[in-house]
Amino acid sequence: MASTSAIEGSSHATRPADELVRSVLPRLTSRVFVDLAIWMTSFGVVTGVAFPFFVVVMGVPSSDVLTPIFFAATLFAGILVGAVNYVLARVVVGSRLRLLQSRMATVEDNVRLSTYSADRSQCTPETCTIPVDSEDVLGQTAAGFNGLVEVLAASTRANDVARRFAATLTSHIELNLLAELALDDLQAIGRFEAAAICVINEGQPMTVASSGLVNGDSLADAAPIQRALQTLQLVRLDLPADIKVDGGVVEFSPRTVLTFPLQLRSVPIGAVMLASLHAVSEDEVRLVEQLLPNLAVALSNALSHQRLQKVAALDPLTGLLNRRFGLDRLGEEFSRAVRGSEPLGVLLFDIDHFKQVNDTHGHQAGDQMLQAVAESARAAVREGDTLIRYGGEEFLVVLPGAGVSDVRELGERIRRAVEATEVAIGSAKISVTVSVGAVAFPATKVADIDDLISRADAAMYAAKSAGRNRLTLVS
Ligand code: GH3
Ligand code: MG
Ligand code: MG
Repeated sequence: MASTSAIEGSSHATRPADELVRSVLPRLTSRVFVDLAIWMTSFGVVTGVAFPFFVVVMGVPSSDVLTPIFFAATLFAGILVGAVNYVLARVVVGSRLRLLQSRMATVEDNVRLSTYSADRSQCTPETCTIPVDSEDVLGQTAAGFNGLVEVLAASTRANDVARRFAATLTSHIELNLLAELALDDLQAIGRFEAAAICVINEGQPMTVASSGLVNGDSLADAAPIQRALQTLQLVRLDLPADIKVDGGVVEFSPRTVLTFPLQLRSVPIGAVMLASLHAVSEDEVRLVEQLLPNLAVALSNALSHQRLQKVAALDPLTGLLNRRFGLDRLGEEFSRAVRGSEPLGVLLFDIDHFKQVNDTHGHQAGDQMLQAVAESARAAVREGDTLIRYGGEEFLVVLPGAGVSDVRELGERIRRAVEATEVAIGSAKISVTVSVGAVAFPATKVADIDDLISRADAAMYAAKSAGRNRLTLVS
């Protein structure tokens, strides 16, 4: 209903102007310039016929002018003036109208092309705009047309930006990569020399992508970000050009710093900060704002994906990588070792007589002990080593770059660390030991990771058989 009345309203609004055009002079033919020619030559005829009588009124003897020859001459002159006027009108006004018509056709083609394809090369100021060289209605028409072309071009640009941004948002699910690509797109909108995206992860804002910032990682604590998150409103800072500030945030003196909140159903999920050396227009702000709801959805999905990945990959009791993801990691490291002819060490260790812990102190105490063993082993391995909960009370350690002596040393370090670990159960303090099987590749030749693990397993059982709480290296 509303749209119908809007259309009716607009047709009412145009009607007086239409009637004005029609009522001044009636239309004679279907062509305006033919009408003009008829009106002008008719006016010439009337002038030619009336002119001799006018001359008589002015005092010239009627015998001189009311003659067929004089009538013919003035009639001819009147028709000639009418015809010349018509030609001049065609040249002066018609040429401009023809230019307008040809530019309109170019713009129409271009809009049609850009609606169905990504081709934007057609419209340039030279091909699509009209020179404004008069101050009358023709000049105003040209200016109005140029304005329309400009608005159309801006709208096409905005559509392009939105299309590109949508493609970016759907191209990746990995949080940091997605945020970096989205940031590139946002920066391109308004020549933002510095920018950052923060997301709230487990209650804390953290920077997931940044560019041109002094310290991108600590930006999440910055006042504008906090304010945007609290108020859910754009925080805009415009700095006069003659004032140089060192905001401590960006690497230059910005003219404009914009901090947009990112929200999902009115809940803050992060913020986008954009800083520019230039004054940023309201149109650019609006364009960025239009893109943010989709960015919020995409970042929220990526964050959920990251959390799910973590939940799927980690053992909930110890926080270590679980068997499935641990074996994937071992596979990657083994391929890398084979390709790069680099050593790879593997340790498999199992808690000795663990059943007794459960039987004596209860399953919960057993769980506590498992957590304590995992923690001690984690502290004993090097950065870059991977500790995996391989089974119930069995653990696997992947040691990239570890040769025979490294494997032995790290295995011993873990064994001693576990031996020294005590867990308080009620008033008692209990401890356990582990038996460790160790393999060093390529010192020990193995066919694949199954072979690698079964050799470590055999070495671990050899350690059990030899009396437990010891390390056995595959010979
Ligand atoms: P060994 O020295 O020969 O390895 O003896 P063991 O008692 O450690 O070996 P066994 O295989 O007989 O028992 C392993 C026990 O580990 C049995 C199982 O109940 C316990 N266990 C496995 N996973 C968990 C767990 O997540 N929590 C607890 N509390 N116990 C577990
Ligand atoms: Mg055991
Ligand atoms: Mg076992």
